[in-house]
Amino acid sequence: MDRDDPIYRLRDRPSLRLGVMGGAFDPIHVAHLVTAEEALQQFQLDEVVFMPVGTPPHKMRELAPAEFRYMLASVATAGHPHFWVSRYEIDREEVGFTVDTLEFLSRTLRPDARVFFVTGADAVLDILTWKDTNRVLELCTLIAATRPGYDLARLAGVLEHLGPGLVGPGPDGKVWIMEVPALAISSSMIRERLASGKAARYLVPDSVAQLIEKTRAYGHPGG
Ligand code: ATP
Ligand code: MG
Repeated sequence: MDRDDPIYRLRDRPSLRLGVMGGAFDPIHVAHLVTAEEALQQFQLDEVVFMPVGTPPHKMRELAPAEFRYMLASVATAGHPHFWVSRYEIDREEVGFTVDTLEFLSRTLRPDARVFFVTGADAVLDILTWKDTNRVLELCTLIAATRPGYDLARLAGVLEHLGPGLVGPGPDGKVWIMEVPALAISSSMIRERLASGKAARYLVPDSVAQLIEKTRAYGHPGG
């Protein structure tokens, strides 16, 4: 791993409470940032690392180039003293599962480090049903952010099947539900707006809007 990578730089930090925010970030938007900030504050995290996916295991569509998504995430987080972007998943050759990234973190960080994997409630279900659920829950605490339009009862129902006491910030709690100020924003909605010639201003940080506009990355009328 690159020595400039935030994970490399955090590897010796004692008692680290690390938030990891996974996603395609195609493009990164303000709801991602609000969610990460909320996790930082509610769970007293020391740092939050955004990890854009390289080749997602369940690829539904063509993503913008990883390098571009990485660049957008970098400019979006540059001004925050505790937000970082890791290249780990985009530099990995094979298709990556969340559990593989968590194994890597557990190998790399100190044994007293604690990893909080922050996702929208929709993504929690995906992670838990994908691969090695039990191992995922051994390696991290999942923070499930409420997301507009998402049925929390459904998540609670699925979690109940996995084991009692799994939900909540109790000692055995492995999945914590986090209330975030509701923002009905998604990357797909932003891509659709851009493709139809609408602006993304205020839905994404200014630096991200400028970079998208300058590169016409998500289509542009007549361009
Ligand atoms: P897409 O529409 O392309 O799926 P997205 O907006 O869902 O994009 P992702 O990159 O898929 O963004 O998501 C990264 C993480 O951020 C996921 O865990 C997702 O659930 C979460 N997330 C995205 N948008 C929101 C939102 N508005 N509120 C809370 N969490 C969100
Ligand atoms: Mg999504």
